[in-house]
Amino acid sequence: MAKRIPKVRCPICQNPVASSAPDFPFCSERCRTIDLGKWASGQYVVSSPLRDTNQDFDPGPDSGNSDDE
Ligand SMILES: [Zn+2]
Repeated sequence: MAKRIPKVRCPICQNPVASSAPDFPFCSERCRTIDLGKWASGQYVVSSPLRDTNQDFDPGPDSGNSDDE
């Protein structure tokens, strides 16, 4: 019986990628970098600015100086 290895194709260049490839599912580090670039360049935008939650900044009554002697 021949082993059936499911072929995975690189999502970037469509080359077949071995599942044991170090950069799986990409065929190479280059394609992985390209994919990362796609994500970073706006395909995936986290457009929710961090709100300033106006929590009262309270350092506390005794902020460290507890050696009064
Ligand atoms: Zn590739």
